[in-house]
Amino acid sequence: MSRAFNFCAGPAALPTEVLEQAREEMLDWRGTGMSVMEMSHRSDEFVAIAEQAERDFRELAGVSDDYAVLFMQGGASSQFAAIPLNLLGDKTSADYVDTGIWSKKAIAEAKRFGQVNVVSSSAASGYTTIAPESEWQCDPQAAYLHYTPNETIGGLEFDFIPESRVPLVADLSSTILSRPLDVSRFGLIYAGAQKNIGPSGLVVVMVRKDLLGKASPHTPTMLDYKVAADNGSMYNTPSTYSWYLAGLVFQWLKRQGGVAAIGEVNARKAKKLYGFIDDSDFYANPIEPRFRSWMNVPFTLADDALNKVFLQGAEARGLLNLAGHRSVGGMRASIYNAMPEAGVDALIAYMTEFEKEHA
Ligand SMILES: *Cc1c(COP(=O)(O)O)cnc(C)c1O
Repeated sequence: MSRAFNFCAGPAALPTEVLEQAREEMLDWRGTGMSVMEMSHRSDEFVAIAEQAERDFRELAGVSDDYAVLFMQGGASSQFAAIPLNLLGDKTSADYVDTGIWSKKAIAEAKRFGQVNVVSSSAASGYTTIAPESEWQCDPQAAYLHYTPNETIGGLEFDFIPESRVPLVADLSSTILSRPLDVSRFGLIYAGAQKNIGPSGLVVVMVRKDLLGKASPHTPTMLDYKVAADNGSMYNTPSTYSWYLAGLVFQWLKRQGGVAAIGEVNARKAKKLYGFIDDSDFYANPIEPRFRSWMNVPFTLADDALNKVFLQGAEARGLLNLAGHRSVGGMRASIYNAMPEAGVDALIAYMTEFEKEHA
């Protein structure tokens, strides 16, 4: 068996150790004679798996008891609707920052439920920089301020947490657990699982408990945070196997030393790759250096006509899924927690070789 280095943006690579453990436990979870997939979500066994995963997540992410942690379904995109439905309350509008494709999707969906005030947009720069907060047109009456700390497609990432007077809401899908974060600055954080947590479909939501119970009466039951919180995220059948796998990923991350330790590795991986790109005349990344994403590194080749050859050569070396998002082209290397430093080294070695051959 050989495992490739998979640079996919999502669903992304999972740690090999996690998949091995899942394989080991697939047919008979710890002497129960059943797979986790076949267990009742109400069984003692599954409830223990679910509770352990939540405890480990809280410990890793530093989430206090002031927050509910919800394991919901429908991916991050379902939260684009859940957030306005739950948080607008008696307010009529919410503030949003536009830094790219995911921000825009969140904005478009929120507009279905209320008024959206775009307080700042990176559009004029071609989404390569972020305006300082002093220039944002925030509304003190807004129900909340939503932003996308890391734009997974554009590779544009905030290097600061906004100072918001209203509850701060963040789509942390592609950076959750990648380094330490002060959760207490946020009213709500959500993250689709398929980048740093586990299989797609699952979405983890951390919501400050004082924000619960304000959902609009039209809110579908399945999107109501209070219903999810009151039912331990088991109002209906949760995505049990994904939840279990997320739990295995959390335990793996604890064995790596937690988010502080993985954060150092992630910083080193990103620094190496951007450093290499900057030193080369053949590869380029357009983002203002302080706003470059640690997790998603888009880059272009000197000649687009070489893209196909580059991707074929990469694949032949077991470096997979380096094509950029279909909306932007070029290349993108996603280097989440599960991508070992050796994967980045192998990518740089290949890029060096390719440049020598084609420059
Ligand atoms: C991947 C991603 C999403 C979409 O997640 P789904 O689970 O597919 O809905 C939303 N926001 C960001 C920042 C992402 O990276």
